[in-house]
Amino acid sequence: MSRQWPCNPVCSLCNQEQETAAHLVLHCSFARQVWERMEEWTQQLVRLPENGIEIVDWWQKELVQLPKKTRKLKAAMMMYCAWNLLKERNRRVFEQKIKNPAEVMQEIKLEVDTRKLACGGPEFS
Ligand SMILES: [Zn+2]
Repeated sequence: MSRQWPCNPVCSLCNQEQETAAHLVLHCSFARQVWERMEEWTQQLVRLPENGIEIVDWWQKELVQLPKKTRKLKAAMMMYCAWNLLKERNRRVFEQKIKNPAEVMQEIKLEVDTRKLACGGPEFS
């Protein structure tokens, strides 16, 4: 939109609200369903983003005052989730394909497992 390119300003995950970065990654009803699954899967290491928070504030608030190892693990999980939400958005916009929140969560687990195979970790417990 800022480049004046023709585009749909409505979020393609929920088809209800304007697509801002914070909406897409943190506040969209679809995104929240994925974050809820992340919360469960990571045993509450990753939490459902608080309503209305901006991305930079969310990132800092979630990671402040954590021991280094925990902080790195949590940051990785937050990135995998945000990245896969963006990928789902792009899948819908550019490939006209749709996954549901459970399927996006599966994609996240797959990526984390692949990383585990390649590098060892991250591990929750
Ligand atoms: Zn949305």
